[in-house]
Amino acid sequence: MSVSQVCKSPMASGIWFDGNSAEIRLKDGCILLTAYERGGCYIIDRCNYSQQCGRFNLASESVNTDRPDVAEDKISLWHARMNHLGVTGMARTVRLGVVEGLDDIAGLKIDGDHTASSVMDVCGGCAQGKITRAPLGKDTPPDHVKAILPMDRWHADSFGPFPESIAGNKYMLLIVDEASDKTFAYFLKKKSDEAAAIQDCYRKGKVVHGRPLKEFHSDGGGEFRSTELLKFWSEEGVRVTTTMPHTPQQNGRAERKGREIVEAIRTVLHHARSPVELWAEIAKAVVYVRNMVSVQKTAKNTANQRWSPRSTEGKPIIESAKHLRVLLCDAWVMIPNADRTKLESKARKCIFLGYEESGLAHRFLDIQSAAYTIIKWGCQA
Ligand SMILES: [Zn+2]
Repeated sequence: MSVSQVCKSPMASGIWFDGNSAEIRLKDGCILLTAYERGGCYIIDRCNYSQQCGRFNLASESVNTDRPDVAEDKISLWHARMNHLGVTGMARTVRLGVVEGLDDIAGLKIDGDHTASSVMDVCGGCAQGKITRAPLGKDTPPDHVKAILPMDRWHADSFGPFPESIAGNKYMLLIVDEASDKTFAYFLKKKSDEAAAIQDCYRKGKVVHGRPLKEFHSDGGGEFRSTELLKFWSEEGVRVTTTMPHTPQQNGRAERKGREIVEAIRTVLHHARSPVELWAEIAKAVVYVRNMVSVQKTAKNTANQRWSPRSTEGKPIIESAKHLRVLLCDAWVMIPNADRTKLESKARKCIFLGYEESGLAHRFLDIQSAAYTIIKWGCQA
């Protein structure tokens, strides 16, 4: 096949060359085919055009129980359900027993566990999505005391512009509560929407904990120092601190979290070979799952548990992971009787897009409709 042939095709939008690899993309942004250069020729590595849905090469949500290495398969499955959380992090959550519904991987250990490390070796999504992380500086500026309780200190950073998401957003704002590591993500059309999003997050946090935030820390980028936001903090009595000029590593907490999430978006996109417009939906699901299952090295609870006011009363919430599914896997969503005629199909082919924040419903993307339509459906967790 020649480059000019591809460019003339009504389906393809063009060929992208990057080092010794090339990608042919469809008009909707989907990667149709990838190829690698060998001795002057490009050899097709993978063709993603699926007859089933026409657009996606879907992630899988099944375990082949006929295979002898079923334990390894289950670790892979849960690794994908946790949006490619590292096996060390998965093992920590399992060992501490702080999340219900993980019986499939109850025996997961790391030391000398070849099963777990071999899963990571073969995870294509992780290989393509994760980069070697350069060490970042300290989490907080040196003159700061460590936060002890939720609402002691928040770290914020913004990321983007990304390609426009299906909801038209281009920026991601992350706010991390230092003491609990609970992360809040907002997806915005323009940077100037950041001040309103931060105020929204603050009001909700204040209601949950019944006390104001003590300190808001950022790199002092444009929107974080807007007159509107500074006036708001001053009225609320919140101390505002910024990173010293030219030392972005001092905002390490929010920046590291952002890098982790962007890495996870890339990993899931590669794992499912899906169009980049889904990045914000993926990010939302990644933040939801990390808050729920990820336990920091020095902690004994998940971020949701440490954020919950019940934890300070010694009664931490126990969440269940039973409703977690592999992001972007294919799914059939039932159409209620009232919404269809007798002979119409009882279900629609969709892809699984994540979770409603309440945890009570799953989100699906209807791939049969021309536009991106999101369907919400209650979980049977
Ligand atoms: Zn992975």
